[in-house]
Amino acid sequence: MKTMQRVLDNLTEEIKDYYNNVSDIPLIPATTAQEIREHLKTNYSFDSPIRLEELTNQVRRMLRDWTLHANHPQYFGLFVPGTFLSSIIADALVALYNPQLGVWTHAPGACEIERFTLQYFLRTFGMPEKTSSANFTTGGTEANLSAVLTALIKYFPEYGDNGMRALEKQPVLYVSEEAHHSFLKIGQLTGLGYKAVRNVPTDDQFRLDFDELKKMYSEDCKNGFAPFMVVGTAGTTSGGVIDPLPEIADFCKEHNLWFHADAAYGGAAIMSEKLKQCLNGIEQADSITCDAHKWFSVSMSAGMFFCRHDKYVKEAFHAGAAYLPETVEGTIDAYGTTLQCSRRFIGLKLFMSLAELGKKGYGDFFQKQAALGDILRQKLREAGFKIVNNTPLPVVCFTHKKIQSNEITTDALLERIYANKEFWISSTKLKNKIPVLRACITSFRTESNDVENFVKTLNSIIRESKTVTV
Ligand SMILES: *Cc1c(COP(=O)(O)O)cnc(C)c1O
Repeated sequence: MKTMQRVLDNLTEEIKDYYNNVSDIPLIPATTAQEIREHLKTNYSFDSPIRLEELTNQVRRMLRDWTLHANHPQYFGLFVPGTFLSSIIADALVALYNPQLGVWTHAPGACEIERFTLQYFLRTFGMPEKTSSANFTTGGTEANLSAVLTALIKYFPEYGDNGMRALEKQPVLYVSEEAHHSFLKIGQLTGLGYKAVRNVPTDDQFRLDFDELKKMYSEDCKNGFAPFMVVGTAGTTSGGVIDPLPEIADFCKEHNLWFHADAAYGGAAIMSEKLKQCLNGIEQADSITCDAHKWFSVSMSAGMFFCRHDKYVKEAFHAGAAYLPETVEGTIDAYGTTLQCSRRFIGLKLFMSLAELGKKGYGDFFQKQAALGDILRQKLREAGFKIVNNTPLPVVCFTHKKIQSNEITTDALLERIYANKEFWISSTKLKNKIPVLRACITSFRTESNDVENFVKTLNSIIRESKTVTV
């Protein structure tokens, strides 16, 4: 009993200390795979037991030293958020109770908490509650896969029983060239094939080029393909750019196509009265992907899949299993409407964060981060950088005339930012060819002075780069 007390006290101390003082921890880990592997080999033969108290302390240290800390206020990185305390508590409770959400009778409380939370988002996104389906997923990839599978079942009923080869025509779907790479994996997983995922070029704002879509669609029809879906990305992974959703919605309606909105990151904007206009059109989607583990700032992994047609979701995922208990009238067993069978209580962290902050709290938080994005853009411009992307979301892609004139490369600049150790940003290639630096406001700890200091540091790196040949 005393040991348990000490372990838990230490853990509480650790949570408090990390949560309150993460800005004092080195942001970027200074280590190598070799160092970590050696350490593990030396300390964990698994031949003799280690006391939990000591073990907890060892693991705590490994995670502190060997993590790129997305919680840090000067992490301007990928869509990895700082995690709210509510989310940390939720995950601990989930591990404690370990409810199995695959079958309703095993976890009535957890299943209904998830359902309640998801129905809130169905309403918020403008989908009818009664005939829609909504589920938590491991992430955006699973949600996007669920969308493609469900759409395939709707348009090609024989796909379910007899597979792709039973189809007369090759189905194809359209994503922009800036869409998430998960669609390529999905092409392979569903049997569609890589090539069935058509990459529509983007316009000069990096949005899906609507005229190109129309051209590709009619070419495909002429050539005997069977188009069934268009994906509009709301917040591209590289540039945070939002595709022309209303136009895509109308086009899909006109041609009887499935409109999927991949709002893995940007969907969060729906919570803000000020920002949600950028998602106009999403209320017409047949299905939506929205990740809670991105802008909503809960811990991984937590995605959401919403679909207007519960009928096709049930058809896509139905499976009888004699070893599972019978379904209770008026409830849903998630093993029959989703990919997973054993299901973690993913939704609790979003339920708790939403209940703690409230809609306005979340909306204000997103607006604050969007405003920090605006400050970053403004400071970068003042310092002579050029902003390349156009979005109301706090994702900033930028370059500099020294990069454009080949005096320094983005890679060399990035290396120097990492060597400075105070900030972390990433780089990407827009349209798969235009190299840019990419900074995203993701930590709720980030304040305007972090943004200003970042631009100052960047400025001095650029000035020094005069003397260096690359
Ligand atoms: C991150 C992302 C995904 C994939 O989501 P995961 O949760 O990482 O699986 C899909 N689409 C977009 C636009 C994303 O940014």
